[in-house]
Amino acid sequence: MKRIASFSVDHTKLMPGMYVSRIDGDITTYDLRQRRPNCGDYLDNATLHTFEHLFATFIRNSEISDCIIYFGPMGCQTGAYLLVRNADNNKVFEVVKQVLRQIIDHEGEIYGAAAAECGNYKSHDLAKAKEESKRYLAVLENIKNPTFQY
Ligand SMILES: [Zn+2]
Repeated sequence: MKRIASFSVDHTKLMPGMYVSRIDGDITTYDLRQRRPNCGDYLDNATLHTFEHLFATFIRNSEISDCIIYFGPMGCQTGAYLLVRNADNNKVFEVVKQVLRQIIDHEGEIYGAAAAECGNYKSHDLAKAKEESKRYLAVLENIKNPTFQY
């Protein structure tokens, strides 16, 4: 089997941040790395699930909504992938931080969390998704000149 590119990133050295994972034509895949891999510190399902619903909803309603291809969590529970068409890295970086602030400020309904809309609608936790957003926003706000390189 051909080893896929994302497995070639040295996960023992990877720190929380935001990286360009790959570029395919006009589509950029961002690695939104929320947790340091293999350190016993993982997102639980309810946290990443609510984070996914809110992040996807807010970014698909943002000023770059027309360019959003996909957003979803990683199976290793340490981050998420965001796919954007015709991406300007710095613009996407700003929008990601804006979306995290929207999640932090969000009260009430978790979008798409009814049985008819979701595959595991009882596995949600808004308080923990907000806490996660605060934590990840602090990581991103600490990056003054992002290179987006691993
Ligand atoms: Zn769901």
